[in-house]
Amino acid sequence: MRLAEFHSRDHGPGDSLAQSDTAMIWAALDTVTDPEIPVISIVEMGMVPSVLVDGDATVVRMTPTFAGCPALDVIRQNIVAAVKNAGYENVRVDVVFDPPWTSDRITDVGREKLKSFGLAPPGAACGSINELRIAEAACPLCDSTNTTLESIFGPTLCRAIHYCNDCQQSFEQFKPV
Ligand SMILES: [Zn+2]
Repeated sequence: MRLAEFHSRDHGPGDSLAQSDTAMIWAALDTVTDPEIPVISIVEMGMVPSVLVDGDATVVRMTPTFAGCPALDVIRQNIVAAVKNAGYENVRVDVVFDPPWTSDRITDVGREKLKSFGLAPPGAACGSINELRIAEAACPLCDSTNTTLESIFGPTLCRAIHYCNDCQQSFEQFKPV
C-alpha cells in the first residue's frame, strides 16, 4: 500500500491529479462528524491518521476515540458515504489502534469548536482516563479555572461534568485521554 496513489492506472503516482484526489478525499472526510459531537469533524478530532490506496480501494484509516464508542458504526458508514459522494466508489474503512488516539490529536481549530459548543477542550493527555487530569478543566464560558468536577460520567462516555465557581454554571468537558 502506498500513499496518494489514486487512479494509478490512469495517472502516475504523485502527479497533480493524485494530489487533487487526496485533497478531495480529505475535504470529504472533513464533512464527517462524530454524532455525539456534531460541531467538529473527524479530521479535526484527529481520528484519521491516513488515507491510502489498496488495489482499487480507497482506504480510510480511522482511530476510534473511545473503545466501544457506540457511534463507531455510524461514523464508519458516514465516512463511506462521504467518500463515495466525492466520486470514489470502492471505499473501505480500516479501524486501527496504532497510532492510538489521544485527545492530544485534536487540532487547534477543533479545540476552538469544542469550546464554542460549550464543551471544555481536554487538557494534555496522560495515556489513560485519570481523575486528577479530568478535574483540571477551564470553564468554556468564562475561562475560569476555579471549577469543580461534579461527575466523571457525563451524558456520553467521553464527557465529564464540571461546575464553574465563578459564573456558576455547569459545563461538560471532553475528557483528556
Ligand atoms: Zn465560568
